[in-house]
Amino acid sequence: MFDIKSFYEATSVADAIRALKADEDAELISGGTDVLIRLREGKKADLSLVSIHNIAELKKIEKDACGNIIIGAGASFSDITNNEIIKEGANVLGEAADTVGGPQIRNVGTIGGNICNGATSADTASTLLSFDAAVVLEGPEGVREVAVREFYCGPGKTVRRHDEVCTSFKIKNEEWEGFEGHYIKYGKRNAMEIATLGCVVRVKLSADKKYIEDARLAFGVAGPTPLRCLKAEAAVKGMSVSDADIYEKLATTALTEVNPRSSWRASKEFRLQLISELSKRALREAILKSGADEDKVAPLPYKGEENDTESAGEVR
Ligand SMILES: Cc1cc2nc3c(=O)[nH]c(=O)nc-3n(C[C@H](O)[C@H](O)[C@H](O)COP(=O)(O)OP(=O)(O)OC[C@H]3O[C@@H](n4cnc5c(N)ncnc54)[C@H](O)[C@@H]3O)c2cc1C
Repeated sequence: MFDIKSFYEATSVADAIRALKADEDAELISGGTDVLIRLREGKKADLSLVSIHNIAELKKIEKDACGNIIIGAGASFSDITNNEIIKEGANVLGEAADTVGGPQIRNVGTIGGNICNGATSADTASTLLSFDAAVVLEGPEGVREVAVREFYCGPGKTVRRHDEVCTSFKIKNEEWEGFEGHYIKYGKRNAMEIATLGCVVRVKLSADKKYIEDARLAFGVAGPTPLRCLKAEAAVKGMSVSDADIYEKLATTALTEVNPRSSWRASKEFRLQLISELSKRALREAILKSGADEDKVAPLPYKGEENDTESAGEVR
C-alpha cells in the first residue's frame, strides 16, 4: 500500500537527528497525516522514514519560569485544544486547532507537522504568527530559534534544515498576557476542509475595556505563506471599541498588505472579499471576548445574513 524503503522509530530527539544526518533522503514522520497521504498518492516513492511519533518529550505543553508558553511539536491538535495552559493563555490557538479536519485527524495530526509542511493554509500557522511565536529547531549543531515570520520562505518551503527536528514553539509571555483572540476559518464545507481563507485577530483592551491598546491580525491563504498585517494592526491601535470606523480601518488597511491568488478553491477577488469581511467579524468577536460591554461595541456595518460570503460556503 505504501512504497516505503525503511522505517526507523527514533527513541529521542538526538536519535532522530542522528538518523536524519545519516540518510539525506530520509524524511521525518510525526502524525503521518500529510506524509502518508503524499506516499499513497505516489508523490514520494521508496522513502526512508524516521518516526518521532513516540517521543514523549515532544508532546509536552508547559509554561517556563518566565511565563512563556512552550508547545511541544508532537502535541496533537486535540492535545492543544484541551490543554489548560492553552485555554488560559492561547485559547484562540486551541480554537484554530479545533477547526482542522475531523476528530481522527485532530487526534493524530501534530502542530509540528502543520507548521513544518510549509502550507499557507495550515490552521495553526496564522495563529502562531499572530503570537510572534518562535520555532525551536534542534540539529547536529545545537538548538536555534527562528521566528514563525521568518520560518516560511515560499509555498511549501521553510528554513528548516534536513537534519533538524522542530522540537517546540515558544509564545512569549508579553505576546499572550492580556490578549483575547478569535479565529475564523472559511471553507467550502464545515468539516474535513482545508481553509479557503483563515483569519485571526487578537486584541488587548485598555483596563476600562473602552480602547484597543494593542492588536494582532494574521491570515492563512492571503499570500504564498502565512501573513501578518502590521499596518492594519497599527491603524486600529488606540481606537475606541465604540468607533464605527474601527472595522473598515482594519479591513481596508489589511487589503493593502495581502497578496492572495486564484486557485480552484476560490478566485483572488473572492479571497479579497473574505479578507475584508472576516477581519471585521474576527475583530468584533475578539473585542467581545476581551470583556467589552456589548452595548458599547460598535456593530458591524451590516447584518450578517445580508452578506453573500455566508451563502457561498461555511464559516467556522
Ligand atoms: C483528511 C485530512 C484533513 C486535513 N484537514 C486539515 C485542515 O483542516 N487544516 C490543516 O491545517 N491541515 C489539515 N490536514 C493536513 C494535516 O493533518 C496537518 O498538516 C497536520 O498538522 C500534519 O501533522 P502530522 O503530524 O500528521 O505531520 P506528518 O505527516 O507526520 O509530517 C508533515 C511534514 O512535516 C514534517 N514534520 C513533522 N513533524 C516535524 C517536526 N517535529 N520537525 C520537523 N519536521 C516535521 C514531516 O517531515 C513532513 O514533511 C488534513 C489532512 C488530512 C489527511
